[in-house]
Amino acid sequence: MGNMTEMINTAERDLLHTYNRFPVVFDHGEGVRLYDTDGKEYLDFCAGIAVHALGYGNEAWKNELKDQIDKITHTSNLYYNEPAIKAAGALKKITGLDRVFFTNSGAEAVEGAIKTARKYAFLKDGTTDHEIIAMDHSFHGRTMGALSVTGTKAYRDPFLPMIGNIKYAVYNDLESVKSLINHKTCAIILETIQGEGGIHPGTGDFIKGIRKLCDDNDILMILDEIQCGMGRSGKMFAYEYFGIKPDVLTLAKGLGCGIPVGAFLMNEKTAQNSLKPGDHGTTYGGNPFAAAAINAVIGQFGELDILKNVNETGAYLKEKLEVLKGKYPIIKDVRGKGLIAGIEFDDTKPVSEVCKKALENGLVVISASGNVLRLVPPLIITKDDIDEMTDKLERSL
Ligand SMILES: *Cc1c(COP(=O)(O)O)cnc(C)c1O
Repeated sequence: MGNMTEMINTAERDLLHTYNRFPVVFDHGEGVRLYDTDGKEYLDFCAGIAVHALGYGNEAWKNELKDQIDKITHTSNLYYNEPAIKAAGALKKITGLDRVFFTNSGAEAVEGAIKTARKYAFLKDGTTDHEIIAMDHSFHGRTMGALSVTGTKAYRDPFLPMIGNIKYAVYNDLESVKSLINHKTCAIILETIQGEGGIHPGTGDFIKGIRKLCDDNDILMILDEIQCGMGRSGKMFAYEYFGIKPDVLTLAKGLGCGIPVGAFLMNEKTAQNSLKPGDHGTTYGGNPFAAAAINAVIGQFGELDILKNVNETGAYLKEKLEVLKGKYPIIKDVRGKGLIAGIEFDDTKPVSEVCKKALENGLVVISASGNVLRLVPPLIITKDDIDEMTDKLERSL
């Protein structure tokens, strides 16, 4: 296809211009390293946006998918398939929830969660104009429903009207949520750790407070762990830090480690009182190929003791970031949990420039809003990788 510049020019001519992409064509990956088509090596602290939890080239994952291709990749949801049955059981076990619906992406999982909440409230009082409380600076996806609960006005404004009756509260401010609740509120949706919005972990008081508000008012608590779930926070799911469970949970990103798959899950009470046959569907969702990816991922999490590595390397990363903060006055704050971390720079240092410079230096990092550098590496990184990352990052400052 020609050299990298030619490919990039062709892409800029043919692809719809909805992204300002970094000027690189990645060719393959190995472990925590990416290689471009010119053979240049990069240390990857983006992981395809928090997707490649197992890094690149995990043998068990590859073999399970290859075997599944040889058998069957798709059946539709009109029939049962073994990988999906197995994946649902595995997801129930690790989440503590009771029912699973497989989707093809994160946004679709959020759509399903919204429909679940509306149906739940509809069955309860027979009316339809229920309200959902979402958070400022949240991110839930780009489809119309998911966008409607996304707390960044600039993402929504060109596409108004959104789906109706959404109110926005201030994250980590329980009073602001309380003040928006009324008898029409059917759900509160939030990320346990805000990702895209700038890596803001929810506080225990806030997350537990929302759980109680939802219990007291028969409101569904929807946690979006599409980015912070699947081990990234140091627990399998970040809500485990607070000893609570959501009524509805959305997952994607790390769930398939590179195969497009998502899911929304719920407890039995919610399942019994919401979506019924005819209410929701998907052609691809939970097909045998995508489900095989989930099974391989969950299997490897146990096999490789991924959580142990996240906790060890996550603590080390935190130390290193604190040192950086002490050393560079342009760093206003460092935040995160496990292997989801953010470095907030002051206005003199646009994070987009740091990311560009890092790429030149062989380090893949991305931004989040609020001039934050986002670190979401594969969950298999070592302390050496973190040392290399900080060296390359310092050179890029
Ligand atoms: C990425 C993300 C989504 C959207 O997922 P897509 O697969 O891009 O549709 C939703 N919620 C959160 C928290 C995310 O990080």
